[in-house]
Amino acid sequence: MPSLARTEARERAALLSVHNYAIELELSEHEPQFRSTTTISFDCARPGAASFADIRPAELESVQLNGADLDPATLRDGRLPLPDLQASNVLRLVARMEYSHDGEGMHRHVDPADHSSYLYAMSFLDAAPRWFGCFDQPDLKARYQLSVHCPAHWTVIGNGAATKVADGHWQLASTEPLATYFVTLVAGPYHSIIAEHDGITLGLHARASLAEHLAAEAPAMLATTRAAFDHYHRTFGIRYPFGEYHQAFVADFNAGAMENPGCVTLREQYVFRSAATTAERNRRAATIAHELAHMWFGNLVTMRWWDDLWLNESFAEYLAYRTCAELGDHPQLTELAALAWADFGIDRKANGHVADQSPSTHPVAGNGAEDAAAALAAFDGISYSKGASALRQLAEHLGDEAFFGGLRSYFERHRFGNAELADLIGAWTEASGEDLTGWVRQWLLTSGLDTIRASTADGVLTVQQEAPSADVADRPHTIRVAGYDGGGAVLVDQQIRLAGQPVRLPVPEPVRFAVADSLDQTWAKIRFDTAVGTDWDLVAELLPRIERHQTRVVLYNAVRDEVRDGGLDPDRALELLLSSYPQEPVEAINAELLAFAVTELAGNYAAPEDRPARRHRVAQVAERVLHSAEPGSDRQLGAARALISASDDPELLQAWRSGVRVPDGLPIDAELRWLLICRLASLGELDATDIERELVADDSSAGVVHAARARALRPDPAAKRAAWTLLTTAGPTPAYELYATAEALFDPTQPAASQPYLARFFIEMPTTAAHRRGWVLGKVIRSAFPVSAASPAVLELADRTLARTDLGPAVRRTLTDGTDALRRCVHSIQRYQPPRGVAVVSWPPARVRP
Ligand SMILES: [Zn+2]
Repeated sequence: MPSLARTEARERAALLSVHNYAIELELSEHEPQFRSTTTISFDCARPGAASFADIRPAELESVQLNGADLDPATLRDGRLPLPDLQASNVLRLVARMEYSHDGEGMHRHVDPADHSSYLYAMSFLDAAPRWFGCFDQPDLKARYQLSVHCPAHWTVIGNGAATKVADGHWQLASTEPLATYFVTLVAGPYHSIIAEHDGITLGLHARASLAEHLAAEAPAMLATTRAAFDHYHRTFGIRYPFGEYHQAFVADFNAGAMENPGCVTLREQYVFRSAATTAERNRRAATIAHELAHMWFGNLVTMRWWDDLWLNESFAEYLAYRTCAELGDHPQLTELAALAWADFGIDRKANGHVADQSPSTHPVAGNGAEDAAAALAAFDGISYSKGASALRQLAEHLGDEAFFGGLRSYFERHRFGNAELADLIGAWTEASGEDLTGWVRQWLLTSGLDTIRASTADGVLTVQQEAPSADVADRPHTIRVAGYDGGGAVLVDQQIRLAGQPVRLPVPEPVRFAVADSLDQTWAKIRFDTAVGTDWDLVAELLPRIERHQTRVVLYNAVRDEVRDGGLDPDRALELLLSSYPQEPVEAINAELLAFAVTELAGNYAAPEDRPARRHRVAQVAERVLHSAEPGSDRQLGAARALISASDDPELLQAWRSGVRVPDGLPIDAELRWLLICRLASLGELDATDIERELVADDSSAGVVHAARARALRPDPAAKRAAWTLLTTAGPTPAYELYATAEALFDPTQPAASQPYLARFFIEMPTTAAHRRGWVLGKVIRSAFPVSAASPAVLELADRTLARTDLGPAVRRTLTDGTDALRRCVHSIQRYQPPRGVAVVSWPPARVRP
């Protein structure tokens, strides 16, 4: 299936201006297909010219252009030729479309709890033609009117305000000009909570079986939504322009959320059905603020082509965390505000750092997306957290007045239209009076992270910068640097600007240790040098004494980076993290570090024979923290989760499953119970019927996904065979069940069980591109990639696969990143746990363009 090329999009945008879409949908609960009728009115700049529309139907029933019938059989690969256009045109497309089960197009989820059908439409990135005929590119914006026929008991919401005109018939108000990729529709017997803020109707929606949980979570979600609305109205000086604001929590959602104007769709796991931590609520709040920021950035002003996708995501990401950090005056949001940047550093930055050090790294802007499929493959932590960090640096450098002043004129100039990077830079240049050409080149058009080292000697604190390549030798950083004495007291705390040359500060003699970027404001690898290199013992000693959350995050991220770089023994890193965990007060930080400890340090970065002992150490510390934690606290819940994941003790797991020996205040609710079931399954303690029995006890949508994971975790040849078949053959399995199965296949705690599938992974997984596309294709391969089987032989298989010339962009990108992770594990294991007589893998790896 060809993907729209940038050159084709440019030609079509020069030729056509699209005014209006009238879309009529006939939706049902159980039929495999639905009818979609689209009437598009548009102009053509050169009458007599030809163009094409995009539509991917099961069957194209009829096509009329300006009243004359066209032959539906001319549709090829999702493109319908439109010959001989007039100055003004009306195109009518009638099609039968398939409901999808991969989270794109018109997705249908049947709730196993009550067999009700729930729909939502996901058009991002190029899935709109899977549910209506259109000109699918971001710069052909138009107004939309939808008319929906559906079962009488359904609720319908969309981009325009929905009105029930008769039983089973809904009309949606005409919208402002929208890009195709954020047109949506949500329909089904959804449970709704309606509220209001500042004249804006607010709606929260979820499946009826989640009604009780939606009601419990609504106050917190509405508080964030209201506060973020006020904040953006103040900051941008332009009111929210899309009418009502609905947030629909939907099943099987691939992303965190999607910013459809007026009707955001979010993953329904945000409607917590079991005990959740403050960190998890804060992350949800950040997502709510992120999607709301998109209403201005992305929706009001939209990128012209996918190569500026970063403009959307970096902005939404930066503004979301900044907004959350500035909401401290709201009594319900003080903790969110206090922890927002620490959470950004420990969670969001981590995967961006990995992406920026992979051979597949790319510049923040101008990712070179020559077609839509390539743009989706480049959609990663660089577009989010690196871009957000770059903008944070720019705001720091220009000051808020110029930063937001430029932004406001950009919104005013391009409202309801499209823009490019140059337009935004132009607006900032005007507002600041500063030439930003150098800044753009150093931060947005080049890739890789700088390393910033701080060291102290003879009363001088030196901060130095090392560039990842010669073309970014003077990337500027506005950061703070802190100097500590041996007891962790701050003796120096100063802002500096680094731009290639070392910065030297005279400091009092007792400064023993210095941390560059102590507020975690930039994007770099931070290192602390002493006469003997990085003194990890000193880091371990000081960590619990450093008060600022962000500074500890910088130290923890250095530990993770250094393990991945092969400069720190994973066993030593584990010791360091486990010694600081009992004293680390921020549970959001602990959750990330424990996951790193279990999955990487005691998993992928350990030789198989060393894994049980390392898991045991994690379990021991988690158990100690668990028993000292306050009953019902986040600390208790976090420790319990870590203990379960690391435990090799079936007796303990079975006891908790039966409600025996459970610490006071720890709820063995649905989610914790499935964690126990999955660990027991992985240890070979459950058979297939045990899992089916658990599913009967929790026959919810979440339960079905957990059961899929538990089945694939069983170290039994038949279970692994079934998982493999599910992952490699075409079928109706919903995406979430595929992801859970993929994550379980090569479980690092059972290296022998999946051995038969190692070679087959590299031969057969790329062939799934024949029957999967979009998010699912890449995500299944990424989730299943056998990093846990790190060995030179597996690495050779991976490298041989990458040498193939027939891999599409999604498969190549996924395999490139997986191979990089694998190479780092192999290198580390050989260096720190070497078996005799095996050559060390060459390092660093040669750069491979995806
Ligand atoms: Zn976003």
